[in-house]
Amino acid sequence: MVIIMNPDASAQNIKDVIEAVESVGLEAKVMEGSQQKIVGVIGDKTKLASVPVDAMDGVEQSVSISKSYKLASREFHPQSSVIDVDGVKIGGGTPVVMAGPCAVESREQLFEAADIVKSAGAQFLRGGAYKPRTSPYSFQGLEQQGLEYLAEARERTGLKIVTEVTVVEAIEQVAKYADMLQIGARNMQNFGLLKEVGKCGKPVLLKRGLAATIDEWLNAAEYIMNEGNPDVVLCERGIRTYETYTRNTLDLSAVAAVKHLSHLPVIVDPSHGTGKWRMVRPMALAAIASGADGLMMEVHPNPAKALSDGPQSLTPEHYREVMNGIWKLSKFMQDEGIAVSEL
Ligand code: PEP
Ligand code: MN
Repeated sequence: MVIIMNPDASAQNIKDVIEAVESVGLEAKVMEGSQQKIVGVIGDKTKLASVPVDAMDGVEQSVSISKSYKLASREFHPQSSVIDVDGVKIGGGTPVVMAGPCAVESREQLFEAADIVKSAGAQFLRGGAYKPRTSPYSFQGLEQQGLEYLAEARERTGLKIVTEVTVVEAIEQVAKYADMLQIGARNMQNFGLLKEVGKCGKPVLLKRGLAATIDEWLNAAEYIMNEGNPDVVLCERGIRTYETYTRNTLDLSAVAAVKHLSHLPVIVDPSHGTGKWRMVRPMALAAIASGADGLMMEVHPNPAKALSDGPQSLTPEHYREVMNGIWKLSKFMQDEGIAVSEL
């Protein structure tokens, strides 16, 4: 249940509502939008039967939320959230681009990639130091060394760093170097990991699981938010279907669905979503047209030599072409007033 306060409710009104909620053993969480304040009630709402919150001063109405996730739902937080990652705003109307190699392979490779990524206007450098590979014999990532290279690349370019954390034991280490922690598709329902990144104090990029429904994905976000971390950005990266031509089936309808169901920003990864570099440009443009708040794309100075995901990685030239199209499309959408924000 959420208790929606009047726009002119006083601080004392909100305090009284919180006290009333807590008096019956429920938890209250206040979310502050620019227009309205909302008190979320966590726990068994039948306990509120004895407390007439709707009649309290400053209360506009209470709304029952039927979904199993609350903090991530738009019912709970009607205004779209903007997640601020050390000054870069995700969800504010201008697409945010996270680009870089699949994996950090060497200092030279990462620095070259970082310069390319920066030159075409991306705000984030991506690159895995911990790689969740299908085969244990495939390149697993440079781990600590990779994190140090990423931090050096940030110093060099000013790009923000987003990188994956695959195990609870590495959260503190990765959080020391990264601006944003990525939870990969394979770990979307690793609930222990989700709870711990919920406590790490850094924004989280939550990729959709390989076979996750939208409901499961938003519940995964709820796990992180319920630990006190509201800074979650969702990433659609394709799901497994019967189609084999593409690596995954990129579900762009999920963008519109998530915009309706949740206030969280959502970005799209057309690289993992298709597995083919030729399909990255059309799907990136389609993602922006469908209302995505940004993109994650793999770029490699020399994809033919990449240690992972070469076939889906853009060359520097193709990356610049994609970025050129993205900026033009997003400017057109803004100028013409056809940007899709919420539904
Ligand atoms: C990645 O972005 O490096 C990655 C492994 O992606 P996913 O978890 O979506 O497969
Ligand atoms: Mn990859």
